Amino acid sequence: MTLTVQPHRESLGLKAGQLFIDGQWTDGRGGQTWTHQHPATGEEVGGFVSGTAADVDDAVAAARAAFDGWATSRARTRIDVLLRFAALLREHADELRGLQALDNSVPLSFGGIYATSVEAAADVFTHHAGWVDKVGGQTLPPYQGGDHLAMTFREPVGVVAAILPWNAPFLLFAQKVAPALAAGCTVVLKPSEYATFAVLRMVRLLTEAGLPPGVLNVVTGPGDPVGEAMITHPGVDKVSFTGSRTVGKRIVEASAGTLKRVSLELGGKSPALVFADAPNVAIAAATVVGAVTMGLSGQACVANTRALVHRDVYDEFLGAAQGMAAAVTYGDPFEPSVISSPLINGRQLERVLGYIEKGKQEGARLVTGGERLGGDLANGNFVAPTIFADVDNSATIAREEIFGPVLAVVPFGDEDEAVELANDTEYGLGAGVFTADVQRAFRVSRRLRVGTIGINGFQVEPHLPFGGFKESGLGREGGQSAYEAYTELKSVLMPLTEEMM
Ligand code: NAD
Repeated sequence: MTLTVQPHRESLGLKAGQLFIDGQWTDGRGGQTWTHQHPATGEEVGGFVSGTAADVDDAVAAARAAFDGWATSRARTRIDVLLRFAALLREHADELRGLQALDNSVPLSFGGIYATSVEAAADVFTHHAGWVDKVGGQTLPPYQGGDHLAMTFREPVGVVAAILPWNAPFLLFAQKVAPALAAGCTVVLKPSEYATFAVLRMVRLLTEAGLPPGVLNVVTGPGDPVGEAMITHPGVDKVSFTGSRTVGKRIVEASAGTLKRVSLELGGKSPALVFADAPNVAIAAATVVGAVTMGLSGQACVANTRALVHRDVYDEFLGAAQGMAAAVTYGDPFEPSVISSPLINGRQLERVLGYIEKGKQEGARLVTGGERLGGDLANGNFVAPTIFADVDNSATIAREEIFGPVLAVVPFGDEDEAVELANDTEYGLGAGVFTADVQRAFRVSRRLRVGTIGINGFQVEPHLPFGGFKESGLGREGGQSAYEAYTELKSVLMPLTEEMM
């Protein structure tokens, strides 16, 4: 039977998407639309406005006009909006999960898992509501003595251009918008052209929560022209971006024009280090393979796509890894038994299949998968869970972010070699360490040049800093560091006696 998502489109009442500028839903100035094709079925899901540089001008002007009012609003006003929105998100979680399944085909089963859930996004808003009246500056004793005040203030950075990828729209919307609004910034947001509908619904809920006009504006459409207009706009003070390394580098380049502040959450080639004393090798294998094949089908920035495995447990790991890969199910994202997704579009499908060919050509051993799925799934961008063993760490599939269900397994002999292999990459987003030796766990964690490490497991925590070393990014999202990244520090000095003036 051919897969279709049409009934869900109707039951969720999907409407054509518009821009949201200065509190108004509008078709903008260009009259262009973008049609979204469902990644699992190839069907046209719906259309939305494909914005222009002129629409970005309007959105930035609205954000600038709203800035002073929002930046100086009562703390209570901002807290109430963030908390009301968190409550609305929780109330509308099922609807949002359904819209996400229409956008990026992340199955409902996985949309319920905390890391990519509406609940996690709501928790980020609840968390940041708590910062609104707590982050301030310091008053320092005067270094040169005497009656002198030396103080610092934290002030909102200004107008923020927030640019989202398609893979985890709930959490990533929250990680940018919540601290920006809490800090008193105003925002121009661009969702990914491959995950727009759920984000537009979130924006409607944010207005229901009482957000004043102009404080958050949305321009939908592709990276060029919409994203380009945002990152080069002289009225934008900061760009907060999550997406690929290539676009991240372009943003750094474009920021030079007006020296914009830049936060970047980019890709990874994160290693899992599985030592011979891992508490349970089969569970380690299931954890690693699960993250690379289930849910987002490896299209997750922090997935451990390189497994470095000690030679003593290498065969055991590969056996369990194959077992896990065989258990992954694909199909209709609204079907509860489906636990994984297709690749987001045809371009990404070709790219992943190209990497698989490259892996074979470069001499890695294909243990399982390696092909596109056919039959009922032939209209979608599905690729079978793929495991390569005996991969050399210098091979293309061990170095480049594939963003698909492809695991490269690399053997190692001792701890030093494992750490050296783990750090031998341009990326530095995350890592997993599997060992029962507590000292080894912390020793190795200290030596890894990455932003986040899971020891014998991993979970997303909405209040912990998250981000990358090296080419995986700049800055951190999550918690206090995120809030602070939407502020500027200002020093104010004042003598307290006439003689010192
Ligand atoms: P992408 O870089 O192709 O697109 C991301 C966003 O940037 C989209 O909204 C896109 O329209 C926009 N864009 C494209 N070109 C632009 C330009 N020239 N100027 C401004 N904006 C532009 O990435 P993607 O395919 O949507 O997402 C996958 C990537 O995101 C992977 O590399 C993944 O690792 C990364 N990612 C990182 C994190 C993290 O927290 N570190 C989380 C999720 C995804």
